[in-house]
Amino acid sequence: MNQTLAIIKPDATAGGKAGLILAQLESAGFTLRAARMLTMTRAQAGSFYAVHRERPFYDSLVAFMTSGPCIPMVLEGSAAVPRLREVIGATDPAEAAEGTVRRLHAESKERNAIHGSDSDENARREIAFFFSGAERLG
Ligand code: UDP
Ligand code: MG
Repeated sequence: MNQTLAIIKPDATAGGKAGLILAQLESAGFTLRAARMLTMTRAQAGSFYAVHRERPFYDSLVAFMTSGPCIPMVLEGSAAVPRLREVIGATDPAEAAEGTVRRLHAESKERNAIHGSDSDENARREIAFFFSGAERLG
């Protein structure tokens, strides 16, 4: 699959880093196919991260993700899912490789600047969560 979903998270949009991060993703070879900006509701963020419902960080994560605007985007490139995960780096910026988006821009393990889908199946689900077919093909 050649598409994946990224979300520039509320810490990065509030911190004025959206442009820098998008430029880094484009420099890494991704083409931007769709994008929007929204402040997620608790229901939206809770549903998006439903897989983490039982985890101790879930309530805090939902509060963070609804704290301000985020920018979901569809990125296109070969082996998009694993390639994006490589470019964004480990969940915890302290463990993220040099030069990755999280190493450069994340504040903490929670406020970590960007989301990237972790499998083709989840990329399909997450793209459909934010974008209609017409938006994806436009
Ligand atoms: N997260 C957190 N504490 C943790 C693990 C994760 O606050 O111990 C947050 C963080 O924002 C992360 C998101 O929950 O990006 C989803 O967690 P996941 O393990 O799926 O990390 P990712 O796939 O984003 O690297
Ligand atoms: Mg994940």
